[in-house]
Amino acid sequence: MLHMGKYEAVIGLEIHAQLSTESKLFCGDETRFGAAPNTHVSPITLGHPGTLPKTNTKAIEYAIKMGLACGCEIAKENYFARKNYFYPDLPKGYQISQHTTPICIGGQVMIKTNEGEKKIQLNRIHLEEDAGKSIHDISPTDTLIDLNRAGTPLIEMVTEPCIHSAEDAFLYVTEVRKLVRWLGVCDGNMEEGSLRCDANISIRLKGDATLGTKVEVKNLNSIRNIKKAIEYEIERLIHLKETGGNIIQQTRSFDANNDTTFSIRDKEDANDYRYFPDPDLAPFHLTNEYISHIQATLPILPNQLKKDWSNSFGLSIYDIEQLCEHKDEADFFLELTKQTKHYKTAANWMMGPIREYLNENSLQYANLTKAIPYLVELFDMVEEGQLNFSVASNKVFKGIMENPQSPRAYATKNNLIQTQSTETIEIWVEEVLAANPDKVAEYKKGKKGLIGLFVGEVKKKSKGKADPKTTTQILEQKLSS
Ligand code: ADP
Ligand code: MG
Repeated sequence: MLHMGKYEAVIGLEIHAQLSTESKLFCGDETRFGAAPNTHVSPITLGHPGTLPKTNTKAIEYAIKMGLACGCEIAKENYFARKNYFYPDLPKGYQISQHTTPICIGGQVMIKTNEGEKKIQLNRIHLEEDAGKSIHDISPTDTLIDLNRAGTPLIEMVTEPCIHSAEDAFLYVTEVRKLVRWLGVCDGNMEEGSLRCDANISIRLKGDATLGTKVEVKNLNSIRNIKKAIEYEIERLIHLKETGGNIIQQTRSFDANNDTTFSIRDKEDANDYRYFPDPDLAPFHLTNEYISHIQATLPILPNQLKKDWSNSFGLSIYDIEQLCEHKDEADFFLELTKQTKHYKTAANWMMGPIREYLNENSLQYANLTKAIPYLVELFDMVEEGQLNFSVASNKVFKGIMENPQSPRAYATKNNLIQTQSTETIEIWVEEVLAANPDKVAEYKKGKKGLIGLFVGEVKKKSKGKADPKTTTQILEQKLSS
């Protein structure tokens, strides 16, 4: 029996996020995923002698955006350094990175856990270029190299060792992915490697202030795997400790086939990367004006929307979180609220029929922009009792999506408008009561629950056109006389 409860896990995460720029960090080569191997490799990417790199300002802008969204301090004086090492998919023999001057310093990401909100403290966010890709699973005898990815801009986000469970690590990465997508700085696509995570893990006795020896699990490419790898490592380290084993600093890899990790190498003392400022790249200075300008272009963040929407629209936190999962959805909701005051109705329609329609037809919110005035008209008709929800969502909504037009015109043409006319409803009510004398007698003896049955019958008879509120009123009146 392991004494899990004696120990505390300590975790620090390094996330590499590929920036969604069109070209690479220091040259014009395209960054698009999925191109034929080695087609986006100019002499600059290959590091040929005499080539001159030039910094992509869009990448700097994106890194600053992420930094500002996380409350980081933005460094004014920056330079790029060469990190020297040899690797087959690193054609230059060095990686251009930021060594002592990360562009964003400190900052935090908030996560929402079962134990309440927690702050994940960042150490830094820095810019660097990606390496190429070594491919081991195509040829049985050779390693193939694709250099398309070499030189692609990355930000590396490094947390302090302040995470204490696999679950919190999972929530943190989920939040970071949502944030990069929200800002539009990275597509967050883990399967394609746009977002990758290294997890550093150690254990210590609860109450200890010093950090234990860490292991690093490299290149985790799904959020689920991050959680599994950390869970596995925590248990393995505690088991080692409890059975008198020695924890050594190691680099490990995750085996998704059996949810375990295995050692790739014991960490040499300290790598000697012989960092020095890249002599081909001028240091860059960021002015306050430039940083404020980027700040002004930041979209409102989900946490702010939570406050705004609960204040001005009176929506529940649950509804707001649902609508703020994706920026296009939140933007669409905001557009709707500019044209209707039925906020809760709009939210319900978005989380119900509209989402369903988009999923079924593989469409995006952008495809619905032109329909906004019609949707707003539809919500009003439901709120005013001219359409019941089921007719509105199953018939009118589908009708006006297929053939964009005013829902009022469509409903009128197809004879779907709900009637509130007392005379018309009275006739249906009389018919229903006449056809059900037994039930009427039971009702009069006190079985008041039967009112629902009568309303249902009137609804059927009217083909959904009798307004339920008016129907109920008329029924109650007739049955009490
Ligand atoms: P390295 O030089 O090995 O990359 P860093 O000090 O740069 O180490 O830290 C890398 C990541 O590892 C950071 O996220 C940091 O919070 C985390 N980390 C550092 N020491 C520990 C430790 N003892 N246990 C868990 N995480 C750690
Ligand atoms: Mg590291």
